[in-house]
Amino acid sequence: MDLRAPLLELVAPHGLGAEVLPGVVLERASAELGLRLTFAVAGAGPLHVELSPLADTPRYAARSTRLALSYRARGADPGLGKRLCDTLAAAVRDNEERVLARLEAEAEAQAGARLREVEVDTLLEPMGRVTAARDETFYGLSPYVGCLVGCRFCYAQSHLDPLRRLLGRAAAPWGSWVDARVNAPAVLARELEARPRRPIKLCPIVSDPYQPLEKRLGLTRACLEVLVGAAFDAPVFVLTRAPLVRRDLPLLARLPGAHLGVSLPTADDAVRAHFEPRAASVDERLALLRDARAAGLATFAVVQPMLAGDRAELADALAAHADSVHLAVLQGEYGAAADFDDPRFAATREPAWQKGAAAELAGLLDARGVPRWEGELPPERQP
Ligand code: SF4
Repeated sequence: MDLRAPLLELVAPHGLGAEVLPGVVLERASAELGLRLTFAVAGAGPLHVELSPLADTPRYAARSTRLALSYRARGADPGLGKRLCDTLAAAVRDNEERVLARLEAEAEAQAGARLREVEVDTLLEPMGRVTAARDETFYGLSPYVGCLVGCRFCYAQSHLDPLRRLLGRAAAPWGSWVDARVNAPAVLARELEARPRRPIKLCPIVSDPYQPLEKRLGLTRACLEVLVGAAFDAPVFVLTRAPLVRRDLPLLARLPGAHLGVSLPTADDAVRAHFEPRAASVDERLALLRDARAAGLATFAVVQPMLAGDRAELADALAAHADSVHLAVLQGEYGAAADFDDPRFAATREPAWQKGAAAELAGLLDARGVPRWEGELPPERQP
């Protein structure tokens, strides 16, 4: 189910291109990371308004009967964000009963379906921003929503579980359901012709692109084939925890800007197995980087969250196989509270431990000459 159209129905009569307040124009509707509306503001950066179930949202700027509206804006007038949420909430109050009832009826018709085939109207999701250092705008590309690998600390569930509740879908543990966007390759082909060319990132924002269902459905592979067929030459970044990506290394090698990355939070496979029991082993992930490099791809690694394990060993492994590394601390425990309750790992959930581990690993990587990057995108391979 594509939620962009229902999202716009919720705020009707304010449609795309409408000036909702003086100088504030509705530019985009997105359901990739929750229900989000993006507004262009005259003389300022974009302003985002997010809609979420009222019961899940302790703080908000405005509300309807069942939904909370919050805003995010870098450096914008907070009064403007509040006024915008108030205006939109008035529209949502008029529309929500009808729109949410229809969504719930559609969800009811598919009740119990854990693996669903869905169709989308759009696929490439504009993301990132222009920073002082570089242009980090890119498209997120997700052929799947939901992930059968099911890492319990996965932050994707924090966006997706509230959406499921909003739709009235039966509660299902993270890692037990997937929506496969079966028309993703066709939509991608259409969008590549119509949209400005930017880097594309296939990464675990809402699913791992090589989670187990990909073996049967091949949607990620079909999207890569579309990119190859379109002679796509902007950077393509693939980030995964799954060995299935090895199947597509020859295909990725036909994209001049292809980079393969693995998420690798620890070099200790017993720790990996405790926190990510269904994901590839440490050795498998390092072998993926090695094979990707041998296939001619640029490589990178993401260490998030920090987990227990020998950090010098991790730094050595990354120095051997990754062209660059991104470090990030635990963002939230989500379903992994019991994993961190284990006395062997209880200390590692603490923000101070996470920060200290990241600083230590950063120093070890620097000493080995491994470039580190902040932000959303790895450094592009230099020609
Ligand atoms: S593999 Fe990635 S997307 Fe899938 S559950 Fe684990 S962290 Fe989340």
